[in-house]
Amino acid sequence: MYEKLTAIVGTDRVKCDESMKNHTTFRIGGPADFYIESRSTKELQDILAICRTHEAAHAILGNGSNLLVSDKGFRGVVIKMQEEESILLLDDEKNTGEPECLVFRIPAGMKLAKAAMQVAEHGCTGFEYAAGIPGTLGGAVVMNAGAYDGTIEDSIVGALVLNEEGDVVYLNKEELELGYRTSIIQRRPYIVLSADFEFKKGNKDVILNRILELNRLRSEKQPLEYPSAGSTFKRPADNYAGKLIMESGLRGYRVNDAAVSEKHCGFVVNLGSATAKDVLTILDDIVRIVKEKAGVTLEPEIKFLGEM
Ligand SMILES: Cc1cc2nc3c(=O)[nH]c(=O)nc-3n(C[C@H](O)[C@H](O)[C@H](O)COP(=O)(O)OP(=O)(O)OC[C@H]3O[C@@H](n4cnc5c(N)ncnc54)[C@H](O)[C@@H]3O)c2cc1C
Repeated sequence: MYEKLTAIVGTDRVKCDESMKNHTTFRIGGPADFYIESRSTKELQDILAICRTHEAAHAILGNGSNLLVSDKGFRGVVIKMQEEESILLLDDEKNTGEPECLVFRIPAGMKLAKAAMQVAEHGCTGFEYAAGIPGTLGGAVVMNAGAYDGTIEDSIVGALVLNEEGDVVYLNKEELELGYRTSIIQRRPYIVLSADFEFKKGNKDVILNRILELNRLRSEKQPLEYPSAGSTFKRPADNYAGKLIMESGLRGYRVNDAAVSEKHCGFVVNLGSATAKDVLTILDDIVRIVKEKAGVTLEPEIKFLGEM
């Protein structure tokens, strides 16, 4: 399999036994058998074809900011979406005919911070919330990510995805089945290649200031000084996971180096050498104690990769 993979992307881009600690914001995870950054749709299709032939599992990686990888790592191929540099303003035909709006195509591997800044530079509003989310566009579509006053579903028009057969297809907003931190891509093996968004024109200075303000709020409220995967649990109906965890007396609760953040109880942080096992144990403890004390069952927002 190694020979076939290197024949597509070259020897320097196929890493064997690559530690997933280097590719997740939690800084946790054992080795992936193979780790490849895919630089085009054709490469992606060829890598997937090899995985199919060898009946090898594959996993798609954005920025690894919502992911807990097993200490045993991942048996198969981790495919990292290429980090891209620019959004594309689609021509007027593809725009919705609404003169106050522009439609942009954003590549899956592009960091949200960069995409949000470019949307702002075009004088468009509606993506300010994404500037502080440390993921890629692809991961954000999968998660229907959101913060403060916005979510992906507010402005997405559709997405180009690779389907199970390896064909490129366009899914419109309805077909993406976006809901709170969920999408069809969590239930079907689609791979997001890019997505189109419609944003209203606004005042550029106001938009840029809003980004600064939201980023300031983030660093004030969130434990950005520690590795984490962001909010560990989904928000339960009419409540907040962080508030319930705090009220259950779990602020600072630790399992080895996995801890409930002192600053924001909705975050489990890695204080240095936490393992996936430590995080799983602390998640179980949190779920059990919050259920006992508050009667609410918390559900993880983070995704899991590998045998736990
Ligand atoms: C400090 C911090 C703050 C955060 N704040 C927020 C927040 O405010 N709001 C919020 O919603 N989230 C937040 N997150 C969580 C995370 O950043 C988001 O969920 C983000 O959208 C994940 O993107 P990613 O590229 O890192 O995805 P990854 O973690 O790499 O992947 C997440 C899932 O998506 C899949 N995936 C990734 N890319 C693709 C693709 N192209 N095609 C198919 N599947 C794919 C992966 O296989 C995995 O199942 C935060 C995380 C951190 C660490």
